[in-house]
Amino acid sequence: MTILEFLKLKKKCTHPKVRPDVDLAYCPDCGVLIKNQWYLVRCSCCGVKLKAVIKNDGIVSESHFCHNCGCRDFVVEKINKISFIDISYAVLLKTVVKSISNRFTQSWVDNDFRTSNYRPLLLQRTL
Ligand SMILES: [Zn+2]
Ligand SMILES: [Zn+2]
Repeated sequence: MTILEFLKLKKKCTHPKVRPDVDLAYCPDCGVLIKNQWYLVRCSCCGVKLKAVIKNDGIVSESHFCHNCGCRDFVVEKINKISFIDISYAVLLKTVVKSISNRFTQSWVDNDFRTSNYRPLLLQRTL
């Protein structure tokens, strides 16, 4: 198997057997450590929760405008603990944790996330 084929195989796994209710788990299919991260989309005007979807490797609101105030801008919010109420709005990203030494990079991404709504695009690409 060439490296390219190996990468392709790795990319294909969407880790379906990793349960969404755990923070960290090894995928039984491909063996990588998966970190579950939930994201919510809110209207940037009135703050109402909008249904989040993953589109073109990014997190966007399902409807392109707020059903409450009609605003077209939204913000992506990372949730630390998913609640029963939020689960119908939120999207789950299964990000690959590469190694312990990678933790530094991971926390840098987390910190940077607060200043940029588009950071989840990068997180998604690590899948
Ligand atoms: Zn997997
Ligand atoms: Zn709104």
